[in-house]
Amino acid sequence: MNQFSFMEGLVAVTPKLDCPHCTSDHVTDVQEFIGGPKVTDPCKKCEVTGEVWICLKCQEVLCSRYVNGHMAEHFQEDNNHPICFSFADFSYWCNLCQEYIEHSILNHKSLFYDQKFGDITDPTQIVQIIKQSKHQNVINEDDNEEGEDE
Ligand SMILES: [Zn+2]
Ligand SMILES: [Zn+2]
Ligand SMILES: [Zn+2]
Repeated sequence: MNQFSFMEGLVAVTPKLDCPHCTSDHVTDVQEFIGGPKVTDPCKKCEVTGEVWICLKCQEVLCSRYVNGHMAEHFQEDNNHPICFSFADFSYWCNLCQEYIEHSILNHKSLFYDQKFGDITDPTQIVQIIKQSKHQNVINEDDNEEGEDE
């Protein structure tokens, strides 16, 4: 049963399967995430959307190193928050291992999967959505301050 197997190939490297940091000290149970942040949430610091991660320890949503690197910064501030999940390509990353990871404790994908893809069952369409959310909004907002709505 691997409903996500079609996503293989979107991530360039094979995930590490024995990350020693996948413990309840670093990863909050998925039940705690229900009703929490959504895949459409922006980075808490710079409000960019799309290329963002959620910290699996404290549920903070922060942008990737391709944008302003706020998730990396979050880890630098507190090394007890090493593991995050990408709302862009649905991969898990460990900042201590510096590698993509997969682990049985990391079962958060299903929760966010429903939010992101809903009833879509066509793998081609899903891959399309993932590609669209990667590396987007990497724009300089400084030049573009007028006409913004909430
Ligand atoms: Zn940010
Ligand atoms: Zn955190
Ligand atoms: Zn690790």
